[in-house]
Amino acid sequence: SSYHKILEENRLLYNQVQDLKGTIRVFCRVRPFLPGQFRDQSTVDYIGENGNIMIVSPQKQGKDARKVFTFDKVFGANVTQEQIYADTQPLIRSVLDGYNVCMFAYGQTGSGKTYTMSGPDLTTEETWGVNYRALRDLFRISKARMDVIKYEVGVQMIEIYNEQVRDLLVVHGSNRRLDIRNNSQLNGLNVPDASLVPVTCTKDVLDLMKIGQRNRAVGATALNERSSRSHSILTIHVRGKELVSGSMLKGCLHLVDLAGSERVDKSEAVGERLKEAQHINRSLSALGDVIYALAQKSSHVPYRNSKLTQVLQDSLGGHAKTLMFVHINPEVNAIGETISTLKFAERVATIDLGAAQSNK
Ligand code: ADP
Repeated sequence: SSYHKILEENRLLYNQVQDLKGTIRVFCRVRPFLPGQFRDQSTVDYIGENGNIMIVSPQKQGKDARKVFTFDKVFGANVTQEQIYADTQPLIRSVLDGYNVCMFAYGQTGSGKTYTMSGPDLTTEETWGVNYRALRDLFRISKARMDVIKYEVGVQMIEIYNEQVRDLLVVHGSNRRLDIRNNSQLNGLNVPDASLVPVTCTKDVLDLMKIGQRNRAVGATALNERSSRSHSILTIHVRGKELVSGSMLKGCLHLVDLAGSERVDKSEAVGERLKEAQHINRSLSALGDVIYALAQKSSHVPYRNSKLTQVLQDSLGGHAKTLMFVHINPEVNAIGETISTLKFAERVATIDLGAAQSNK
């Protein structure tokens, strides 16, 4: 019977690890050098088969110069948008089975977050990002299941800037600030006042994205500056009705392009810039804290510490699935941010195992 006990323990441990693995996955993507960049020196020394990436710090000597980080997957600079999507697809598809899924793009400004999520250019399908591919896929699968389940898909798009929530899908641009109502009975939407637009095909989606991009630019001195300091969240709400039993299912997918993770030198930043920096740092660390608390199965998860975690509350933890996509820029002058990005990501990625082992 002790044999059975061991078997049972192993099974529990295995389940725990699986369970925690389901909580958060971390993928890392290396941005290629851009035209005109000095490509002789890259801080990425090596990408291994098993999710390893070796970073070399040019200023350091000896064994301190090289450091290995490990994630669920690492994608090198030559990986295409299609390949990236192929690896996120299973998670995204589970939305149609009634899961809540959250995918974040994390990294310093210029590391490729928007490239992964949206792509560089809406007009070429080949470079479409995860957003469009996800919607295209959801439409395709829901069509294929048409005889069994009838699906409805609706989209919201909001921006969080300086801890204020704005609707990006209002047609006539508006700066109205929206409230977050957690666990709201209103269709289960956390930001019930943000436009919820029904979509049935990728053309609908492309039209919406154009509105979203235009609204994002409102009030910004330069679009890039604004978008690097705000979080944008595209949420896809799915409702399905099983035709035979009449039972309903509900899932949602949050695709989050986070504000740039770079640290702002507080001694130099003043006024607006300082306020922005403080808000960004606070919400990114609040996100880290929530993920940490979830992985440790802590009884208190500090969702309320930022707007970002409040909006995403129902989609982090519980039965939700989370994917953190961290981006790095291989240029030598980005080394400081690269290391801190990878440390943050590794903390998110490896806590799972640590928590499982300490429960042994
Ligand atoms: P971020 O959103 O992190 O600020 P961007 O997505 O805007 O960064 O990327 C910065 C620049 O690098 C853009 O010109 C973008 O087109 C380019 N870029 C990023 N990732 C890739 C990639 N995988 N392949 C080709 N170009 C890329």
